[in-house]
Amino acid sequence: MRSPVQQYLDDVHAGLVDELGGSTKSKNPELAQADPMMFGMAITTADGYTYASGDADVPFSIQSISKVFGYALALQDRGFVYMDERIDVEPSGDPFNEISLDAETGKPKNPLINAGAIAATAQIRSTTKKSAFDRILEVCSAAAGRELELNQKVYEYDRDTGKRNRALAWLLASSEIIEGDPIQAFDDYSRQCSISVTTKDLSVMAATLANLGTNPITGQDVFDTEVVQRVLSVMLTCGMYDDSGDWVSTVGLPAKSGVGGGILGALPGQLGLASFSPPLDQHGSSVRGLRAYKQISTDLELHFVRTS
Ligand code: GLU
Repeated sequence: MRSPVQQYLDDVHAGLVDELGGSTKSKNPELAQADPMMFGMAITTADGYTYASGDADVPFSIQSISKVFGYALALQDRGFVYMDERIDVEPSGDPFNEISLDAETGKPKNPLINAGAIAATAQIRSTTKKSAFDRILEVCSAAAGRELELNQKVYEYDRDTGKRNRALAWLLASSEIIEGDPIQAFDDYSRQCSISVTTKDLSVMAATLANLGTNPITGQDVFDTEVVQRVLSVMLTCGMYDDSGDWVSTVGLPAKSGVGGGILGALPGQLGLASFSPPLDQHGSSVRGLRAYKQISTDLELHFVRTS
């Protein structure tokens, strides 16, 4: 017999398969090829149970959702004071790829827009054995509870065409936010966006955040609690591109979306959520995903302001 949670998730999924809004017209040919009918949803509870519905095992590109994990790792490596001197935590209200730097300090507004994410990735420590990207992949894998991989084609396209992100990296170097090689930071960032995940992976990654840094399935401690508190706070105010205000008022959960069609959401202490559906709205978020989150948040009363 299906559990009530499984039944609920299947019902939400079935109710949204006919939602045909949004566009898959990505510049990246690998992302543009995505089947617009793909639709996966998953929930992983903070005590480690996963419920999945639809295309929850289909791999897709993590894209901007990786920014959460890059920032968390950089915070873990460098501490709050060092990171706060370089990246603010203010919502920008700007599109994700905006040249959104403070006019005087050159600081990016927050770590979840490209400028701030490239700046964060640049602070991740590397060793002779492990590059910064190896460490991001390792941390994403630890949060997902399995070994994730890079999608080489997505990466090569982003690397070869990402002129705006290259420009951002140089701009950050000119204001000494990036002290090392800006092109290395750009390359590591392009790679982190090209990590492949499934909806189930994403829900476990979300549950690791919801469980304050410990993967609830493997028991591995991935992030310190204070780092998770910071990251979830920034997700709440800045995670949904220039649609973050609407998201906070209607869904009210820390979340991050990516142009690969994924949305990760976390309810601290309770559960991690994930959705995947490629057609995107004008802000870059999955249309079915947004609807699913709005419905789940309303039905299960997940909004951080309780009304009953
Ligand atoms: N790789 C994309 C970029 O940096 C990520 C965009 C996104 O998911 O928002 O432009």
